[in-house]
This record gives sequence, structure tokens and C-alpha cells, in this order.
Amino acid sequence: MARLLSSLRIRLTLLFGTLALLIGITASLYINYFVSLRMTETKGESIQKLAQSIAMSISENLRERQREVGLLAQSPLLIHAPLNSPELRKSLDRTKNTYRHYAWVGMADIQGQVQSSSDGLLEGESVAARPWFINGLKSSFFGDVHEAVLLSKYLNVGQVNDTNSEPLRFVDFAAPVFDEQGKVRGVLATHAHWRWVDEVIQRHLPDGSKADAIEVFITNKKNDILSPFAAIGKLTIPAQANLNQAYQILGWSDQGTYLVSSVTINLYGESEQLWHVVVRQPVAQALSNVSELRQRLWLLGLVTTLILMLLTYWLSRAISAPIEQLSAIASRVADGDEYTELRVQSTTRELKTLIASLNAMTSKLIKRKRELLNINDQLEQKVDERTFELKKTNLELASLAQQLELLARQDALTGIGNRMSADEHLQQEHARMLRTENPYCILLMDIDYFKKVNDNYGHAIGDQVLQQVAELLKTAIRNSDMVARYGGEEFICVLPDTDLTGAAILAEKIARLIEAYAMPGCGRVTVSIGVALSRVDDKDHDELVRRADQALYAAKANGRNQVVLAAH
Ligand code: GH3
Ligand code: MG
Ligand code: MG
Repeated sequence: MARLLSSLRIRLTLLFGTLALLIGITASLYINYFVSLRMTETKGESIQKLAQSIAMSISENLRERQREVGLLAQSPLLIHAPLNSPELRKSLDRTKNTYRHYAWVGMADIQGQVQSSSDGLLEGESVAARPWFINGLKSSFFGDVHEAVLLSKYLNVGQVNDTNSEPLRFVDFAAPVFDEQGKVRGVLATHAHWRWVDEVIQRHLPDGSKADAIEVFITNKKNDILSPFAAIGKLTIPAQANLNQAYQILGWSDQGTYLVSSVTINLYGESEQLWHVVVRQPVAQALSNVSELRQRLWLLGLVTTLILMLLTYWLSRAISAPIEQLSAIASRVADGDEYTELRVQSTTRELKTLIASLNAMTSKLIKRKRELLNINDQLEQKVDERTFELKKTNLELASLAQQLELLARQDALTGIGNRMSADEHLQQEHARMLRTENPYCILLMDIDYFKKVNDNYGHAIGDQVLQQVAELLKTAIRNSDMVARYGGEEFICVLPDTDLTGAAILAEKIARLIEAYAMPGCGRVTVSIGVALSRVDDKDHDELVRRADQALYAAKANGRNQVVLAAH
């Protein structure tokens, strides 16, 4: 998910989607507000017009009824005829029949006794206490809606508004009747059924007003509901309803919020307020188009956003594709595949620059890598060469050391071992003797009067004598024996596994060999030899050498050119 959200293309799409959604929300909020305002205005004006036309109609109707009573009161029949004449009653009946909402038309004499009436109802009865009579004696009178008082007993049956048990209610119109001399003869009155108001209302209600939940109320000055009957006592008109505003939005006692318009009905020609027509419609109903519009706007906004997102997703390929390719190639380069070619096409200036830069970078990288590989190869070659030379030098040094080792133990003049080599050999022989308990012997010999050789024949001749003696010694001994130059003109022979007798024989043989040999340049030389046998109790080989030396000393002292055995 996080990986998906980090994609450039998805981000662009989401960005444009969010922008479109924001714009959509803002636009729809504004349109919603604006249209609500307009719709409230239109609907408000429409219910106001309805209220006005109902008020006008009721007002005209009242005037008509009043005019009718006034005209009838001035008819010759009422002026001249006896108040109880059949012609008068017929005339009253006719009048009643001209208007279907008339319940009763009657003529009372000056004492308040009904003399003539439609259908003869109430004839002979007294209406002296009725307001229409009292007021009607003086002038034209309109009596506000009231329940039937006297007539109820005659009209109740069959006249009651069926199921609702709505009581009979009337409005009264009355006018004084004068004789020719202008004297009051009595009062002419009509009682009109209240239901004509409902009829007027029904006539004015536009089609579909029921579906639109439009309701019309008639109220009196005190804001009590007069019509419809079903609402009386159940609903209260909000106190603010009659503030002479074209329309208002008000909360009602039935918990609803309504668009309300209230219009005053004046009795025609009089300034006094009579009733009010209150029209209401639930706000939700009034603005139902707005909510429908709002839904459509939301849908439109969502669809637009979706289309825009898809478009963005599709169009952003142009931007994101080269970057995605670049990213894939860069990953390949990072993984070591730097020979990848950057064949990415883009018309975007920045991307073109980026591709060129990456190309340049990759070429540089390849060049640098090649150089490094070259340097590496050269270095390896050099290291190999140096290693080889070092090995060679080491070998040379080893052989040199070996040679030095040999030289250190070799006498330069004679080529046989020197004193150091003799000492080492003696040490080993002494150890071997102690281990095996096999004794060994040494011969310590010294050239007699050698000083004289040097003195007489020169040092070079002396050297040749030394070399010759060494050669003779080498030929005289066995392979297992060892000969070395032990000092200036002293030689030593080490004879392993040899007893004193054997050693003495060899010493004698050597002495005779040298004596017999004619040295070039100086003639004959002789040697004195001390022979000694090893002992297991010798502390070291030096003790053996010391004994041989003593024997040699004895041989010298005895006259030289002889072999002396050391005491054992
Ligand atoms: P002796 O019989 O008592 O042994 O008498 P000598 O003369 O042999 O003994 P001395 O110790 O008096 O003399 C040894 C001489 O050997 C002295 C020295 O010059 C000589 N000499 C020692 N080493 C060399 C050498 O390498 N070459 C030569 N030419 N002479 C040497
Ligand atoms: Mg000597
Ligand atoms: Mg000597």
C-alpha cells in the first residue's frame, strides 16, 4: 500500500482527484446555498400568493353576502309587505336558495320575534338577545363565526359534517329594514355555513398541494385556529406568524419547521382585522428540489472527480513513464549493470536534462570502472612480479646462507673443515658416544718446525705445505672419519667407533705418509701426533682434546715425527 502511494503517478492522480473533489464540494456548497435561497424565495412568494388569493376571495365573499343582505333589506317587499306574509317568506326562501351555503334567511320584527324565515325555521321565536339582532337594528352587521345557537336543534340532523362531528358554525349578516317613513321595521339576517371557507380554500389550493404538504389555516385575531376544524386545539400558530412578512421560516408546535406566510383578512371596507390566512409548507418539502439538486451535484462532482482521476492517471503516463523507466534503469545500474543504455524518450525539458545527465554519469562511471580495472590489472601484474622477485631473492639468500654456513665451517686455505666444524663434530660424537657407549678416538697433529719452512721458503710455500698435508690426510682417513684444520699448522682427525690401537695405527700411517711425501718447493716435512680415546666419564669433548694435546706435547718433547698415545 505504502509502495503504491509512493508512486508518482498515483500521487498525481490523487492530487488532482482531491483538487477536483475540493472544487466540487465548494461549488456544490455554494450552489446549494444559492439555490436554497432562491428556492425559499420562490416558494415563499408562491405560498404568500396563495394566502393572498384565499384572503381576497374570503373578503370578497363576505362583501357579497353583506351586499346581498343590504339589497334585500331595501327590496319593496320588505318595505311594504306584512312581515309574516307568504310572499315575504317565498322571497326569503329564494334568497336562501341563491347561495348554497346559506343555512337560514329570516326577518325579525322590532321586538326580536322572527316573523318570516326560509323554510319557516324559528318563526315566532325570539332572537332579541342575539348580537346580529341587537346590532342589526342600528346598521349593517357582520357576526363573527360562532356555533349555531338556536338553529342547531333544527339543522343538526343531517347537517352535521359527517364523521368529524364538526359542529355547525355560522357567520351572520344582518341589516335593518326601514319602512317608507324610514322607521325601523325589523332586522333581516342571513346565516352562512362556515364550511364555505373550507370550500374557498379548496378552490384555491393548486394541484398537488396535498403532495407538497401545503396546509392552510384560518385564524382569528387572537391567533386561534378557526379552520380546519381538525387542527383546533391540536396546533398552535407560532406567535411570530403574523409579523407582516411576506414569508418566514418558523418552528411549529408539532415540531416541524415550516415556510409560513400569513395574510390578514379585513372585512371589506373596514380597516379592522378579521381573520388571518396562514399557509404553511414543511421546509424539507418546499426545498425538496434543492436536496434533489444537491444529490445530483454530489453525483456529478463524484463522477467528474472520477473521470478527472482516470484522465490524470492516463495523462500522467507522459510524465511518469520516463521517470519509471529511468528509475528501473537506475536500479539496474545500481545493481552493477552499468552498460544499460538509457533509451528513454521524453519531451519534458527537465526530464530530458535528467536523462542526459544520467547518460553522462553512466558513461563516466563506465570509463572510471575501466580505468580502475586497468589499474587493478597492472597492480596485480606488479605484485606478481615483485612476489616472484622476492621468492627468487629469498631462494638466493637461503642458498647464500647455506654457503655461508658451509664457509663458516670450512677452512679457506685447505678446503677442509675448520676448528668450528671440528668442535661441532666432536660435540655430536661425544653425545653419540655417551648414548651408544661406543668410544671414538681423535688424532691431534702438528707440523714439526713449520716456522722454519716459512722462514726458509716463504709464506706461500708454507701455505702449499698446509694444503698438501690436508690432501694427504683426506686420502688417509675413512669416509666416516672427519678431518679439520684445528689451528695454524695443527690438524685433527675424529675417528668414530675406533679404539686406541686402531687410532694409533692410523696415526702412524699418516705420520709415515707425510714424512714420505716430497713437498713441492721445500722437500720433506714431518708431523707429531697425539692420540686419545674417549671416556664415558669425560665431562665434554674438550677433556678428550686436552688429553690428545698432552700426548702431542709429549711427542714434541720426545723428538718429534712420532705418535704418542694419551694415557687412558
Ligand atoms: P715445533 O716443531 O715446535 O712445532 O716448531 P714450529 O716452528 O713448527 O712451531 P711454532 O709454533 O714455533 O711455529 C709455527 C709456525 O707456523 C709459525 C707460523 O708462522 C707458522 N704458520 C702458522 N699458520 C700458518 C699459515 O697459515 N701459513 C704459513 N705459511 N705459515 C703458518
Ligand atoms: Mg704448532
Ligand atoms: Mg709445529
